[in-house]
Amino acid sequence: MTTVATDRLIAPHGGMLVDRTGERPEGLERLERVTLTSREVSDLDMLACGALSPLVGFMGRDDYERVVEEMRLASGLIWALPVCLAVPEAPRGDRVALVDEAGTALAVLDVEDVYEYDRTREAERCFRTTDDAHPGVARLYAQHPLYLSGLVTVFERPRPQFEELARDPVETRAIFAERGWKRVVGFQTRNPIHRAHEYLTKVALETVDGLLVHPLVGDTKSDDVPAETRVECYRVLLDGYYPSDRVLLSAFPAAMRYAGPREAVWHAICRKNYGCSHFIVGRDHAGVGDYYGTYDAQLIFDAFEPHELDLEPLFFEHSFFCRACGSMASAKTCPHPAEEHVFLSGTKVRELLAAGEVPPEEFTRHEVAEVLIEAYRQG
Ligand SMILES: [Zn+2]
Repeated sequence: MTTVATDRLIAPHGGMLVDRTGERPEGLERLERVTLTSREVSDLDMLACGALSPLVGFMGRDDYERVVEEMRLASGLIWALPVCLAVPEAPRGDRVALVDEAGTALAVLDVEDVYEYDRTREAERCFRTTDDAHPGVARLYAQHPLYLSGLVTVFERPRPQFEELARDPVETRAIFAERGWKRVVGFQTRNPIHRAHEYLTKVALETVDGLLVHPLVGDTKSDDVPAETRVECYRVLLDGYYPSDRVLLSAFPAAMRYAGPREAVWHAICRKNYGCSHFIVGRDHAGVGDYYGTYDAQLIFDAFEPHELDLEPLFFEHSFFCRACGSMASAKTCPHPAEEHVFLSGTKVRELLAAGEVPPEEFTRHEVAEVLIEAYRQG
């Protein structure tokens, strides 16, 4: 366990930051190998660095059952989504090597249990749908039939896509502590940040000490904007419009599950481990298609007592530039009709950018638009 000067920061979920990194063990080559999908590799890496504290391995049956049914670990601690390793058959030995799809050994797992699970029930409970057109459900249905649980020890971390943005919870916590931040708001994103989301982050930042812009860089749907383009968008936006001593840009190595409300809770818990005391939850957080109601990802937090999560979720409406207000606003703060609002649909924005046209400055910063136009040109 590493200790850093984090006294002023929120405690990790469950109280202790987990560290499951370790030495490459002797006799590794003789172990049975279990191949992980890229989503499972993301989970493994997050287990290694404590982003999934208090989890120390892939979930056992008791945790899994209670998470699926009640959004709690067997201990009673809130936990929103299964973190499981699917395998085709039970391993013979009590220790296996975990390898990525290229065959590189990353970790060992000390086998605790192998158990059957019901894909349909997991889909129904966690994704609120059994429709295999849902990308998370489709992934679940394609999984191997058994879950393998046990403590992991990770000796080979996957090479991060953005080396300079790869910071473990212990590192973000150290940076927050160094800067003297106590209250830090986390912002999850898998899209370029336009004015609406810039506004949310700044409104939140007005009330706390610092902002963690924490874009998800693990697997996303193929029609989402690629991470390298998004990271470039974040850089130009932060450089031009945010005070550098109040903001930290860092990568969140998770893969998207598209589980909407439950994923909002899961995202919040992970950010608590990174040191965030507050977390922005927008409308349809982590949603896909029209599987979730607009406010479901906010309402789900009512399932818990306020003190239980410790972290404070901050709920936001859609925002826009209002010509009559002369500022960014939302339905909560602006009384004017929709004609006064600068609103562009996602489709309209893509059309403009693909045609090399910069959308209105009230909708997106031109620096961000230019990065996106260039990406369309090259794509
Ligand atoms: Zn207005």
